[in-house]
Amino acid sequence: MVRVTYDSGFRVEEFTVHRKSLVATSNYFKRVVAGHGALIRLAGTNPSEFAVYLTWLYTGLICCKDEDRECDSQEYHELIELYSLGQRLEDDAFTEAVVDAFRASIQDELQQTDTILESLCIGTLYDSTNKSNPLRRLVVETYARHATSEQVHNMVKRVPAEFMDELNMTLLNNRPDTAPGISALPLCMFHKHAGSGKCAQEAQSRKRRRLQ
Ligand SMILES: [Zn+2]
Repeated sequence: MVRVTYDSGFRVEEFTVHRKSLVATSNYFKRVVAGHGALIRLAGTNPSEFAVYLTWLYTGLICCKDEDRECDSQEYHELIELYSLGQRLEDDAFTEAVVDAFRASIQDELQQTDTILESLCIGTLYDSTNKSNPLRRLVVETYARHATSEQVHNMVKRVPAEFMDELNMTLLNNRPDTAPGISALPLCMFHKHAGSGKCAQEAQSRKRRRLQ
């Protein structure tokens, strides 16, 4: 067995873990267990996130759905923290499981309420992750596929400009090759009468024809 102490600065918690489990997927623990033996110190912000990691290690499940959490977005915030724990522990299997859980939550939310991850969460996500983070890609792809223009319009001032840039790029990249070009659009689309009513040029050209 290996003892892992988790120091959050004001609270230290101790966990006892099977050596085999601890080194199964984490490259960090593989290195540290080989070097230090039976006692490992970890520092971080929240010992309960390490408890979630251990539960995943033994069961394959990510259980961060807390019944008395303050709001729906808290689950997303926890998953964002768990992702960075997975990065620190150099555990690709765990970070992938976190991404899958994040995606499942988004899909559940879409199915049940037709809403997408609040702008508050997008701010947190962009504050606490770097450019290559797959959770960012996941959220951008979700917006590109499910958001209405009204939803995007209502949040545009509350989300990072970087998110809007990535959303725009994704929308452009997702545009089908078969989308008609500008020449397929009717001329009157950009006239003052905008398709309804009489085209000023039409009347003019009729007059010209009569004079000829
Ligand atoms: Zn016209």
